[in-house]
Amino acid sequence: MKAIRRFTVRTVLPESIAPLGRLARNLRWSWHEPTERLFTELNPHAWESVHGDPVKLLGSLTREEIQQIAQDPQLVARVRELDADLQTYLTEPHWYQRTQGPDAPAAIAYFSAEYGITSALPQYSGGLGILAGDHLKTASDMGVPVVGVGLLYQAGYFKQSLSRDGWQQETYPVLDPDELPLTLLREADGTPARVSLPLPDGRSLRAQIWRADVGRVPLLLLDSNIPDNDDAARNITDRLYGGGSDHRLQQELLLGMGGVRALRIHSRLTGAPAPEVYHCNEGHAGFLGIERIQELMDPAGDAAPMTWGEALAEVRAGTVFTTHTPVPAGIDRFERAQVEHFFAAGLTPAVAVGNVLDLGAETYPGGDPGKFNMAVMGLRLAQRANGVAKLHGAVSRSMFQGLWQGFDVEEVPITSITNGVHVPSWIDPTVWQLAVEPQENDLDPAARWRKIYEVPDAELWATRRMLRERLVLDVRERLRASWKKRGATDAELGWTESVLDPDVLTIGFARRVPTYKRLTLMLRDPERLKRILLDPQRPVQLVVAGKSHPADEMGKRMIQDLVRFTDDPEVRHRIVFLPNYDIAMARVLFPGCDVWLNNPLRPLEACGTSGMKAAINGGLNLSVLDGWWDEMYDGQNGWAIPTADGKASTDERDDVEAAALYELIESHVAPRFYGDGSEGAAPAARADIPAAPQDAVPHQWLAMVRHTLATLGPRVSSRRMLTDYVQQLYVPACVSSRRATADDGAVARAGAQWIDRVRDAWPGVRVEHVDAQGVHQEPQIGDELGISAYVDLGPLQPEDVTVQVGFGRVSESDHIHERSYAELQPVEDLGQGRVRFSGPITIDRSGPFGYTVRVLPHHEDLAGPAELALVRNAAD
Ligand SMILES: *Cc1c(COP(=O)(O)O)cnc(C)c1O
Repeated sequence: MKAIRRFTVRTVLPESIAPLGRLARNLRWSWHEPTERLFTELNPHAWESVHGDPVKLLGSLTREEIQQIAQDPQLVARVRELDADLQTYLTEPHWYQRTQGPDAPAAIAYFSAEYGITSALPQYSGGLGILAGDHLKTASDMGVPVVGVGLLYQAGYFKQSLSRDGWQQETYPVLDPDELPLTLLREADGTPARVSLPLPDGRSLRAQIWRADVGRVPLLLLDSNIPDNDDAARNITDRLYGGGSDHRLQQELLLGMGGVRALRIHSRLTGAPAPEVYHCNEGHAGFLGIERIQELMDPAGDAAPMTWGEALAEVRAGTVFTTHTPVPAGIDRFERAQVEHFFAAGLTPAVAVGNVLDLGAETYPGGDPGKFNMAVMGLRLAQRANGVAKLHGAVSRSMFQGLWQGFDVEEVPITSITNGVHVPSWIDPTVWQLAVEPQENDLDPAARWRKIYEVPDAELWATRRMLRERLVLDVRERLRASWKKRGATDAELGWTESVLDPDVLTIGFARRVPTYKRLTLMLRDPERLKRILLDPQRPVQLVVAGKSHPADEMGKRMIQDLVRFTDDPEVRHRIVFLPNYDIAMARVLFPGCDVWLNNPLRPLEACGTSGMKAAINGGLNLSVLDGWWDEMYDGQNGWAIPTADGKASTDERDDVEAAALYELIESHVAPRFYGDGSEGAAPAARADIPAAPQDAVPHQWLAMVRHTLATLGPRVSSRRMLTDYVQQLYVPACVSSRRATADDGAVARAGAQWIDRVRDAWPGVRVEHVDAQGVHQEPQIGDELGISAYVDLGPLQPEDVTVQVGFGRVSESDHIHERSYAELQPVEDLGQGRVRFSGPITIDRSGPFGYTVRVLPHHEDLAGPAELALVRNAAD
């Protein structure tokens, strides 16, 4: 029977336990272990059947059960205590309030297309979303005044299962927002607050706004599934990364432009301060800058409208853009005509469509004039930009160098801040107890992690075994469930009860399955892998998981190859593939693995965070030197899989790198885990593994575990990451933005006029001639040269430019390496815009030496020399 109408009945909690509702609705429970434990213990059985979701749990309790809880004095006391703790957490000053001065922004808007906060709010597909979730949680813990903006997808991302023959199956369970930990934003009269964007053909895209409370951070999620919309518009927020490119473009217009409008509504309704800094996490939300320009060009009230250039200068000053994609194919691009089509409908009445189109234009060698590139727009709309690991910063600088022609790659203004992970979300509570000082120590985060050095080997080893065993039990359950879905009967599944072994070296590998991550590299030589798994002395077991994008046949084939290998009765007790990798699985998987494997095609992994989650649980990394591992591997905290970058074909690379991986496991990882000769004994006492005394532990292994926890813990923590964002990007962006907006945007206006003047004059700027005094027949270290540059500035003044001499060692092709720069001063006005600049340089190294001169625009509001992408080199 089908209901003709539906509504959601809210549980009414008795007075004595009313705060349970608050505790369930604030997502802080998902990283506050005592609160999560309270919900678990209210009704462990119900907790399991609602998959660990407090809102659903409360909804599933009967009136009798609720009465029982309300009459249990101990539970009532705990509820009150935790509620009081939450109130303190939400209001007391944290790191930001204690350490930041008046230059710190009053609010920072953080935009992302996905958020992975808890499995109870499945609005993420992988690393990008998990990172965004960790960013918000950390901001909450540290008191950083972030407000998140995103979309609420009706089905989130898909759930993965397997067919009998190992082919990925996708389902999209539809979520009911009324059953999610969300609150609808309402106007004073109770009607839902709305944003509305005009669409072509007189249509509109409207959305309501849900708020999730991530500790003290509000997260606003736009939802187009409302009756005011036509069916097509209702479905815009149907799925994460769903639909064709028109669909995707509308999602991104809603996220960026609708998101800014949602922020305004949120401020109006709650009095929250307007953001002073806007952080665009990956290109998807890039249209947020266009909406802000529109606001400035057609302001409400009596502010004077700005020109395009002025508004762009002001918006750029307060915008931070983070790129996450070293794979060019991973960048979002639309047809230029498609973008034009949507903007022509009047999305931004005050902004010329041509100006919007120019922001996304690929105006560099190799660019496609028909495309609109979201990352390129992101870079043009943000005065500050970053990649997500040191290596990724370098890769991004060379990937986008074409936007800064004439500059060397290291001058491309994209810095890097290495990602981190939210420790309270990802560390096992037992490891937390063992390894981390509970009290927050703002001044020396590293000190918090030194505690592990005092933990005896036996205790650490016992903890690691306990975590491994818990994973083994979880794997058996999941594997059984998966096989049942694949059509097996209980009678066939007896073998799953002894899959994996809590005393065997356990290697984990879980991630999305794009080709570059090479899920199946381990299968390169199946016989050798089998020997490793089945080694009678030093067996190894592997737990593998990962989702392929639904449209990626290649990824699905890789999963199938792997599943087929794991189905083999000869090895199936030592290698498993677990379907539906998600946050819930990850939280058991990371702590339970001894080793975390990662073998991307270098340098295509931007950062990677799963290995960090393993590390904070005492897992050792076995990884290609890519992403974060490239900067944090130190020889003691794991192993580096050597790469054959650059040289060979992909096929040859796979051969070489797989062989290196096997060799590392056989000769280094397994011997150390089982205790090499010097340690005397293996850790396990079992019939099929050489007997070892009960107390034998692999001391060297544990030394690596300790070193990993103590030294990587503070570095991979998202507290370190967020501190970097605040200090290196948010505060400077706030300072620039306040300057730009002061006096009704006077600085932005003057700056924009200056930029126009410099851009107009630049084609005429020329270095006419350079000479040097003091060059001897046989130059020596310490010699001083007097450099003079004769520069034609046209209508510009000497103070509009910086003239630099770059000098250093030269290669055979006259390229200057290890370059230093010295500034030359204007010393003589030669008339008609010609000026002599001069100054000394000192020869500071032996060998081939060379110098050159360049002219750059100079203005105090530029964030760096390459910002305007204008330079005149002497040789031009
Ligand atoms: C950490 C995590 C990821 C991201 O891992 P990468 O190392 O970036 O591939 C993806 N999915 C889940 C469920 C995670 O917990």
